[in-house]
Amino acid sequence: MRRLLVLERISAFVRDHVQPVETVLDGDSAHAELARLRELAKSAGLWALPLPRELGGGGLDLATYFGLAEAEGRSDHGPTALGSASLLDVRMFRAHASEAVRERYLKSLVAGEITGSYAMTEPGVAGSDPAASRTTAARVAGGWVLSGRKWFTTGAGTAAYVTVLAGGSLFVVPTGSPGFRVVREIPVLGASGQFEIEVAEVFVPAEHLLGEGGDGLAIAGTRLALGRTLRCLRWIGQAERAFELMCARATTRQVRGSALADRQLVQQHVFEALLAIRSARALTRQAAELVAAEQDARTEIGLAKVAAARTLQQVTDSATQVFGAEGLGPDTPLPMLSRIARTARILDGADELHVSATARRVLARGRAD
Ligand SMILES: Cc1cc2nc3c(=O)[nH]c(=O)nc-3n(C[C@H](O)[C@H](O)[C@H](O)COP(=O)(O)OP(=O)(O)OC[C@H]3O[C@@H](n4cnc5c(N)ncnc54)[C@H](O)[C@@H]3O)c2cc1C
Repeated sequence: MRRLLVLERISAFVRDHVQPVETVLDGDSAHAELARLRELAKSAGLWALPLPRELGGGGLDLATYFGLAEAEGRSDHGPTALGSASLLDVRMFRAHASEAVRERYLKSLVAGEITGSYAMTEPGVAGSDPAASRTTAARVAGGWVLSGRKWFTTGAGTAAYVTVLAGGSLFVVPTGSPGFRVVREIPVLGASGQFEIEVAEVFVPAEHLLGEGGDGLAIAGTRLALGRTLRCLRWIGQAERAFELMCARATTRQVRGSALADRQLVQQHVFEALLAIRSARALTRQAAELVAAEQDARTEIGLAKVAAARTLQQVTDSATQVFGAEGLGPDTPLPMLSRIARTARILDGADELHVSATARRVLARGRAD
């Protein structure tokens, strides 16, 4: 009962407060708007629900939060506005960071006073092969010296630290470190938020290494499993949003004396979109159950990631088609959802990577169950 109430309140918060300012949040002056939303979420008692209670969060376990993430993710900005975007860093730091790093960052991260970024992908290197990373980490007295470049580092322009993959390890690099530089912002299909960064002989204290050293890709794997599951839930929430827009338009738009909804070719769009959303949701729930139980979910995540990314692209495209020219202009969120859908097939592992890896794993077993 309480979960349903929270779900309704999150849906209402995203619909009433986040969706109306999405274009501001996609632009260069998002900071002030996000600060306003953060205060609103805090006063509504909806802030940082899946973050640990002892750090100032709501203390929801993963399984419960998964049940809310689709509603929260109906806007790509929902998780940031509601304070759950730091979940991946908080879990990673609690599991692998030194006392010093946890002391320095965890509480202010959960409070939303600072944000962090995560940098694996590099210019000139296939992001699909993180083991090929060229960023180096050299051991020196008291720590490490990192050198290299990263790009498409989400949020690095305003982050307090960036977790950097270098030499097979992950390091927490304060953005104020001498030698750390934001090289440029990289607009993605017109939206801001991605950055290229340089670490030029940046000294990082020994206690800023995550884990034991050399286990960066293993730590990244655990982080990505949760990150991809959450991303799938959010993409399904956004596909649902496009679906609702399509249905509303189809039932109200009259063409030559009848509603678009009466045309079989439009009904086909609606059916295929429904089929895609329901299938992707079922696959994502399977993955989420395994991730919440800390079991091997690689096959389920591979299926869910590809299904959710394709679904978002298919449904936004159908909704745009049913809207006609208006669906391409600024009066509906469809162009924004289409942009996110296009990035979905590349980020969090390009779809092809998941197709190959999943097929290889299943081929070895020879069964579909
Ligand atoms: C909006 C956005 C935000 C991002 N945020 C971050 C971030 O915060 N931190 C970060 O580190 N990275 C981030 N990325 C980068 C993202 O993780 C990479 O783009 C992704 O891993 C793919 O790497 P790549 O772009 O170098 O493409 P490549 O690895 O060069 O792949 C290019 C293409 O090759 C094909 N391909 C790749 N592998 C295979 C295969 N096994 N079989 C067949 N074909 C294949 C696919 O078509 C793929 O799209 C972000 C990207 C975007 C678009």
